[in-house]
Amino acid sequence: MHTIDQALGVMMELFEPVEIEEVAILDALGRCLAVPMHARHASPAVDVSAMDGYAVRLADFGDRHLSVSLPLEGESRTGGPMPAPLAGGTTMRILTGAAVPEGADAVVPQELVTLTESNGGAPRSIVFAERPKPFANIRRRGEEVRVGEVIVPAGHPIGPGEISILASQHIGRVPVRRRPTVAIVSTGDELIDLADTPTPGKIVNSNAYGLASAVVEAGARPWMLPTVPDDKEAIAATLRTALRADVIVTSGGVSVGDHDYVHEALQAVGVKRILWKVAIKPGKPIAFGVSDRRDGEAGTRRTVVVGLPGNPISALVTFAIFVRPGLHRMMGDRRPMPALIKARLGAACRHSVGRVEFVRVRLSAATELDDDGTHPLTAEPLVQQGSGAHASMVGCDAFAILSSARGDHQAGEIVRVLLLDPGSLRADRCWMGDYPPTRLIPT
Ligand code: AMP
Ligand code: MG
Repeated sequence: MHTIDQALGVMMELFEPVEIEEVAILDALGRCLAVPMHARHASPAVDVSAMDGYAVRLADFGDRHLSVSLPLEGESRTGGPMPAPLAGGTTMRILTGAAVPEGADAVVPQELVTLTESNGGAPRSIVFAERPKPFANIRRRGEEVRVGEVIVPAGHPIGPGEISILASQHIGRVPVRRRPTVAIVSTGDELIDLADTPTPGKIVNSNAYGLASAVVEAGARPWMLPTVPDDKEAIAATLRTALRADVIVTSGGVSVGDHDYVHEALQAVGVKRILWKVAIKPGKPIAFGVSDRRDGEAGTRRTVVVGLPGNPISALVTFAIFVRPGLHRMMGDRRPMPALIKARLGAACRHSVGRVEFVRVRLSAATELDDDGTHPLTAEPLVQQGSGAHASMVGCDAFAILSSARGDHQAGEIVRVLLLDPGSLRADRCWMGDYPPTRLIPT
């Protein structure tokens, strides 16, 4: 039996980053850039005004506190043509975002001036109460982004902010790692498909649906294969097809039951077992393997195989612990591990020493203030924690981690929590077992 951190360390190494592809910018949402993107042009591209007001030359001002009246000549409009240079002894109307005319070295906001109107009503000259500071209210060329500067680094998830800056730089296609394909192989004589008529003793292959949606959430492509009975040859035949995928996730049949044939079938199709059984609850019988084969002249092709237990809860919990970070790493995420956060247990939890337990919880901000005036997160265990109880995943947004070194946990104890949807809250490494770790594990 392996500790969870040993297993994570070994298994993360198996999920090597996949190839790079170029995609339209919106298709990059949630993925990671494979290479850093650099600014193609400065932003702003020229000096622009930060306010609606008047462009001036400081040389036309005398003593700081003496007011100055300057005739109004022309206008610089946002999106308009480059304005003519600002003639000495004049001022120019300028709008927010418009180019600052050559020669101007400050913009005075319109709220700070007085207009002298001509007979027709159009302002003829502008009275400035005092001399502005050099480059006041001017956003200088390149102030935000310099040419060549890294605007989005490689390896961190792309969200709306990253997409926005890429678009601002005329970057419409970006290099990302392709989405890995994850074959889902469900084994079990008891399984029927969703469309089949229910019969006694049979259950719907719900894992295929739960796992496929977890694969989509992780950013990869699910490939649901037809359900396979508990038969070594049948499982091996399906695995042979599934080996075309980057990752195979099997469900069921990895334990030590009389009809658990997944190990033998994997061996029959040349998958090398790397590790089997991890001291966690739920999910102890999880297995990892790898198939590295020659692929034409080009080199080798790898399929990572994760054998998940059939219990629907065990399958989803072990997917979140092991497969999701693995997929993130394949997709080039520099910080593929989930960041663990702290929460207070909302109720006591029975627990036995020896395994790290993942308790399905709902998170909420406690109504009582903590000593530091903040609302601590409370992790409320969901009823029915048995590893087969589907219902405990409904409304579940995290797993509270109970230490393997301790027995029962009390209500109010601080525990570490693994978020079901980590969003961009990621880490380069994390220890899901006992912390601080007794030894470093490569990630
Ligand atoms: P196993 O890991 O094959 O021993 O399966 C453990 C239990 O999980 C079985 O008794 C089933 O009740 C359940 N199970 C197995 N496979 C699935 C599946 N694909 N969908 C839903 N439940 C399953
Ligand atoms: Mg089974």
